[in-house]
This record gives sequence, structure tokens and C-alpha cells, in this order.
Amino acid sequence: MVRAKLLPQRRDSEARRELELTCMSNLLSAAGERVYFKDLQSRFLLVSAGWIAAYAPGRAAAELIGKTDSDVFSDQHASAAFRDEQQVIRTGEPIVGKVEMETYGGQMPTWVSTTKMPLRDEHGQIIGTFGISRDATAQIMAENALAKQTRQLIAQNERLRELDRLKDQFIGMFSHELRTPLASILGYVEMLREDGVNGPDAEHCTEVIDRNAKRLLRLVDDLQLLSQIQSGKMAMEFRSSDLAGIAADAVEERRPEAQRKHIELVLAATDVPAVAVDPARIAQLLGNLLSNAIKFTPDGGRVEVRLGTDGDRAVLAVADTGVGIPAADRERVFERFFRTEIATQHAIQGTGLGLTITKAIVEAHNGTIAVDSEEGGGSTFTVRLPLQPVPAPGTAEPASPSDAALRPV
Ligand code: ADP
Repeated sequence: MVRAKLLPQRRDSEARRELELTCMSNLLSAAGERVYFKDLQSRFLLVSAGWIAAYAPGRAAAELIGKTDSDVFSDQHASAAFRDEQQVIRTGEPIVGKVEMETYGGQMPTWVSTTKMPLRDEHGQIIGTFGISRDATAQIMAENALAKQTRQLIAQNERLRELDRLKDQFIGMFSHELRTPLASILGYVEMLREDGVNGPDAEHCTEVIDRNAKRLLRLVDDLQLLSQIQSGKMAMEFRSSDLAGIAADAVEERRPEAQRKHIELVLAATDVPAVAVDPARIAQLLGNLLSNAIKFTPDGGRVEVRLGTDGDRAVLAVADTGVGIPAADRERVFERFFRTEIATQHAIQGTGLGLTITKAIVEAHNGTIAVDSEEGGGSTFTVRLPLQPVPAPGTAEPASPSDAALRPV
């Protein structure tokens, strides 16, 4: 009676077992699925045909039994997988859908999404691990491309915002910079019209009008030059030039400005051979550095222009005893429209373009510019220009014309 009842049950469980084995064998021979079973030491017990096709093509399943990931993957990958499997064994908790990069001998890395689970015997005892990996390379590549695109869009957005901010700043600053000299010109024209203004008074009026008109002209020239620099079209005319003469003229041009502030202005020049530069641009560069030195030096200070050589370079330096530049701003002073707090707070005239233009001119000559400064202790701007061979008569370009002139800032 009992026997009669047990037999069909046993038949059922044998059939079930057989079915399970068939299912398992199908799973293991399916081409796409990467399935493995490992023992407690992470040695292979079984691997699917899909796993072999992906990771050990040409090798027989039986040959892999007892081997470890170290026999197939890179050490880095094998030890990471070992750590994960030991964690699953220790905790009994699965690791689900972990995306990892697979690196193995001489091939492009790929990404897989791996799930590792504890392998238990019929008593529930953990006897190893098993896992399924899926190729996630296409998905990760698509995600990476999307992330890159997002980063690019964010950067572009930031650039647009910055441009917008610069535009507002530009409009505000230029209306101020235009208004001040214009108001002064109009005021002095009014005075000239008044009866009785003649002699030294009239001369003073015309001198102020002249100075302010020149300031406006410089402003417009700077703007035009900035737009040329940005479009990579700064025109340069290289000629054999005498740097000492250019420096002397620049110093004399700024002397009245220095005298108004009782600033001692000196030129210390040693002999420098004739160089191939654009003399007008070098004069402009020196004018900018001198104008800044005088603007940012209090009454009674000192400004010195030095000219000499250092190896194959001509060295031009403008040193002042002025307010100096905070360390954090020293590189930024060359940025478009950048002005230090002292310049804006004390409403010292300026647009923040002078040094941008100066740097572009220096680079168009294949030179360098550096600033050395101490807050409250003065600043020295040093320009080094290559002593290029003088071009043969009739040629406008130097022996090695700089393409930096064509580079937007
Ligand atoms: P601007 O003089 O028109 O403001 P620049 O581009 O020539 O523009 O200079 C940018 C800023 O760098 C100035 O506003 C000032 O804050 C700082 N700077 C330049 N030269 C000096 C200097 N010799 N001493 C102190 N600060 C200076």
C-alpha cells in the first residue's frame, strides 16, 4: 500500500530532476547567455557555451573546470571578481546588475552587467557562487556619448551665459567710459564759448578737450583692435625697428600724464640690436603698460621703463611703485574686461582691454609677457621678444612670422 503510494512520487521527483537537468543543459548550451558556476574558491564548476564564446573562444568547457578568472581575464579584473564572489559567499547576499569594465589580453575593453548569487546545496548551505553576465558595451557607449553631449551642452550654456554677462558688463562700462570724456569735452567747449576766456585759460581748455578726445579715440581703437584679435585678423607690419627709440617716444608721450601726478618717469635702456617688429604695435603695447603704471601708482611714485637683452631675447619691462595686484588676480589681468577690485572700487578709468591687447601683440611677436607684483608694493610687467633677424629690404614679414597674430584670444 505504502509502496504503491511512494512509487509515483519517486517517479515524479525523478522526472522533475531530469527536467531540471534538461533545462540546465539548455541554459548552458545557449549561445548568448554567459553563465558560470564556481566553488568556494572561485574555481569554475561549469560554464555555459555563451560564456566560452565570449571569454575563452575555442576552449572546451571541461578544460576550464577547476580554473579561475586569472586563467582568462586580466589580474585586475580577476581579483575584482574574486572579491565580489567572496563577498557573496560571506554575506549570502547577491550582487545585482553590477556594470563593470572587462579587460583581457590585447582586446578593446568591453562592459558587462553582472549578477552574482550564492550557490546553495539542497540544505541551503553555500557551496560557491553562480552568475550571469550580459554585454552592456552598446548601452554604456550610448550612455557615455549622452553624458559627453550633456557636458558639452552645459559648457556651451555656461559660455553663452558668460557672454551675456560680458555683454551687460561691456555696455555698462563703455557707456561710462564714453560719457566721462564726452562730458568733459562739452563742459570745456561751453567755457570756451563764454566771453572772456582767452590766453592761458583758453589754452588749458583746448588741452583738456584734446586729451579727452584722444582718450575717446584710443577707446574706439582698442575696441576695433579687440574685434580684429578675436576674429584672428590683427594686422601686423613687421619692420626693422629701434626698440630704444620706440621706448623713448612712448615715455615722452606719457610724461605729461606722469607730471600731473608728480610721478618720476625714467627710461633705462641699454643697446639693443635692430629687431623685426611692428613698431606701431610695440609703441601701443608700451603705451598700455605705461598708462597702467601711471594710473595705478599714487601721487609721488616712480615708474621705470627698462630695455635690455637676455640671450636671444629683447627684454622690455615697466616697473611701478603702485598699488600692486593681488596674487589671485595676477593671471586674470590679461583676460578681456577683467579689472581688479581696486580699479573698480576707486573708479580708476579703464576698460580692462589694455592688457588683453598687449598680450595679443606680444604673442603676435612670438614673445612672452609676465607680471611680478606685490600688493601695495608695485608691479613689474616684463615682455620678452625674440631678437629676430632683420628681414631683407623690401620684405614686410620677419624671417619667422608669427601665426599667433591669427589666433583669437
Ligand atoms: P584697464 O587698465 O583699462 O582697466 P587693463 O587690461 O590694462 O585694463 O588692466 C586690467 C587690470 O589689471 C586693471 O584694471 C588693474 O586692475 C590691473 N592692472 C594692470 N596694470 C596694473 C598695474 N601696473 N598696477 C596695478 N594694477 C594693474
